[in-house]
Amino acid sequence: MYDVVIVGAGIIGSFLAHDLSKYQLNIAVLEKNSDIAGEATMSNSAIIHAGHDPKTGTLKASLNLQGSRMYESVCKELGVSYKRTSAFVAATNHEEEELLPAMIAQAEERDIPCMLLRGEEARRKEPNLSEEIVAVAEFPTTAICYPWEIALALMEEAVMNQVELKLNEKVITIEKDQNTFQILTEKGNQYESRYVINAAGIYADEIYQLVTKLEKNPIVIHPRKGEYFVLDREEKTLVERVIYPVPSEKGKGVLLVPTTHNNLLLGPNSTMVTDKEEKGNTTEALAYVKEAVQKLAKNIPFEKIIRTFAGLRASGESGDFIIEEAMDVPCFINVAQIESPGLASAPAISEYVLHEILMKKEDQDQKLIFIQKENYLKRRHPIRVKDLSEEERNKLVKEQPAYGRVICRCEQITEGEIIDTIHRTLGAKTVKAVKKRVRPGMGRCQGGFCEPRVVEILARELHISPLDIRMDSPESLLLTRELWGGDKHAGI
Ligand SMILES: Cc1cc2nc3c(=O)[nH]c(=O)nc-3n(C[C@H](O)[C@H](O)[C@H](O)COP(=O)(O)OP(=O)(O)OC[C@H]3O[C@@H](n4cnc5c(N)ncnc54)[C@H](O)[C@@H]3O)c2cc1C
Repeated sequence: MYDVVIVGAGIIGSFLAHDLSKYQLNIAVLEKNSDIAGEATMSNSAIIHAGHDPKTGTLKASLNLQGSRMYESVCKELGVSYKRTSAFVAATNHEEEELLPAMIAQAEERDIPCMLLRGEEARRKEPNLSEEIVAVAEFPTTAICYPWEIALALMEEAVMNQVELKLNEKVITIEKDQNTFQILTEKGNQYESRYVINAAGIYADEIYQLVTKLEKNPIVIHPRKGEYFVLDREEKTLVERVIYPVPSEKGKGVLLVPTTHNNLLLGPNSTMVTDKEEKGNTTEALAYVKEAVQKLAKNIPFEKIIRTFAGLRASGESGDFIIEEAMDVPCFINVAQIESPGLASAPAISEYVLHEILMKKEDQDQKLIFIQKENYLKRRHPIRVKDLSEEERNKLVKEQPAYGRVICRCEQITEGEIIDTIHRTLGAKTVKAVKKRVRPGMGRCQGGFCEPRVVEILARELHISPLDIRMDSPESLLLTRELWGGDKHAGI
């Protein structure tokens, strides 16, 4: 019997698993995919918004602000990327310009550093800003991160501290008898738990529907798609700051976002879709993104586009996050409608669930006992060869020559880093899992050169045939047959 079962291992489920793993509780995480952080947490703008934008009085406003203040130290502790870039909200006409003082006033009320700049002043800081821009509001505490790296690090530490992560486990029914939930997965496995936390992203409404007796489900999620271009990595990106347009009722608008690996993201648009699996790119949306970003910046090198992607926002009808114990189902906690700024708010959301919901439970039969673990284990920070000095690199390669063999030329990833990621606690077992953890295949060639090498290394390190290596899900075959003797030479 578990104390808590978390459904969904995105950034929210990962923060929750990590923070709960500090206590003497039995925790399991059930994730339908073959790896964690593969949905909204994988397909977003990666911005830790300063917190100036959400409506006053909402959970979004308070948790975004609190989350943005927590991120730097969380990322430092985990040994993952985080960069404070600052952001411009750019007005391209006088009507938009008139909206900036109110935005600044709202930020000042929240103690968020901000300033108003004229167009020319802004262009001195960001020379590639469009000439159309007449004024900007600058928010220096805005930051960027690498969202799935954070989720993976959190979950790795959670698993090191006895959280049980169950992958390929899609929850299909939840029943409650007395004080126990019975959770059934598609594979036919049954889990028993005292609490369930619903962190299922765009499926959070359907997960709650499994257990609620209410006639009308108060959680309704309408997926809202956003599409992006990714530009090739540069020494210095076109813009150093996140550039937002002035927001509209449709959201934050189409942005330019430098990434922690010096790529540039252009996007996202915002389109309601009905199918929760509709994650393909469309010509119309990408054309719209191209046009929209040109209002914000000039000299955009569109010839440097290396890929496109899309993500689905879990938009709800109330416009705010829903984070509460279900009225009709005690001990069932919904963490739903976590659209933007869900990433920026994630550490604060987890803290809110622990301190404002779980720890405040008074009913003796249902109360969880929170006793901190004495020997909490911390993860070992992975080595990033690219970030080492020449001296450090030479010393490392002497001791472990695999760190001197470059496998991904675009991103400068070595065999040593790939081997390490395969053998870590949350070890990578598929090509995509390696790519998500250490980035071979994320660069210009998109895996054209390094993917076969990654397959070889995976097969060798996991002691299986290359034919058994998958791209991602158990169905995603890469190699179908051997062409000539020996696994090493299997044909693609
Ligand atoms: C286009 C776009 C741009 C965004 N930009 C930003 C931004 O810049 N800054 C910001 O703060 N926020 C941003 N967001 C929002 C942010 O990405 C999300 O709020 C956050 O990732 C939500 O995390 P999550 O864990 O709730 O959901 P997810 O990451 O979607 O995780 C939910 C998990 O639940 C699993 N699951 C679902 N159903 C089941 C089931 N039946 N059984 C088991 N597992 C299940 C899924 O497989 C998934 O892994 C953006 C979102 C999008 C889509």
